[in-house]
Parts: sequence; structure tokens; C-alpha cells
Amino acid sequence: MVEFENLLRSKGYRLTNQRRIIARSLEGARHSSAEEIYDRVKGDHPELGLSTVYRTLDLLTELNVTRKRDFGEGYARYELATEKIHQHARCRECGAVIEFNEELMEYLALQVERETGFTTEWHEITLHGMCEECAAK
Ligand SMILES: [Zn+2]
Ligand SMILES: [Zn+2]
Repeated sequence: MVEFENLLRSKGYRLTNQRRIIARSLEGARHSSAEEIYDRVKGDHPELGLSTVYRTLDLLTELNVTRKRDFGEGYARYELATEKIHQHARCRECGAVIEFNEELMEYLALQVERETGFTTEWHEITLHGMCEECAAK
């Protein structure tokens, strides 16, 4: 928590109450959409509107406090940028998001660089399919 407070301050932004509430709501609830965050915080903080949640998430993402992820669902999901970098697999049945180790992707990027001479700056790969439980049904 302290980490992102310092980050905001170092970039000249105040840690307003709404920024704190929204960033905190992502602790322990990774890969949340703006609407899910809104649903979680509105009970305790009726002053926060959905558009404020969207605006705040945009700012936090711009400042690298949160990471915005698009899993092809028609809306974005967010997680704290303080989480270790990892990749995602998404279940098309239940929407579960499974995280997996970044190192496999590093390896893949390295192979592509070797074969094509491409220089990778960042990568974001999502696997699409079914989770173990849904596949068993
Ligand atoms: Zn599933
Ligand atoms: Zn994640």
C-alpha cells in the first residue's frame, strides 16, 4: 500500500480518498472490472460514482499504479502493478482468470528474438479456453 502512495506523491499527485479506496479494493481481488470495483465500494462509499471509478482507474493505470488488462470480454480488468508480472489464462465458461509464470513468456520472447531479430519491449499474452472444472463438466 505504502508503495503506491509514494509513487503517486513522487509524480506530484495527491493520494485522495477516492484513489486510496479504489486502489485498496484491488488488494486481494485481482482482475476486477470497473463495475466490480464500483459494486464493492459503493456500499461504504456512496459518494463514489461509476464514472469516478473509471476516471480514477485510468489515472492509476497511467501512473503505473494499476495494470489494465483486456481479456477480450468487451471490458477491461485491473490489477495492482505491484503484483509480480505474470500472464493469464481465461476460462470462456466461468470467466475465471488463472495466472501463470512469466518466465515461460520470457523464454518465448527470447526465441522469437533469436529467430526474427525482433526486439521485444513488452508482451501480454492471454490463453483462452476452459478451466479444469468447466472442462470436466
Ligand atoms: Zn471455468
Ligand atoms: Zn493477474
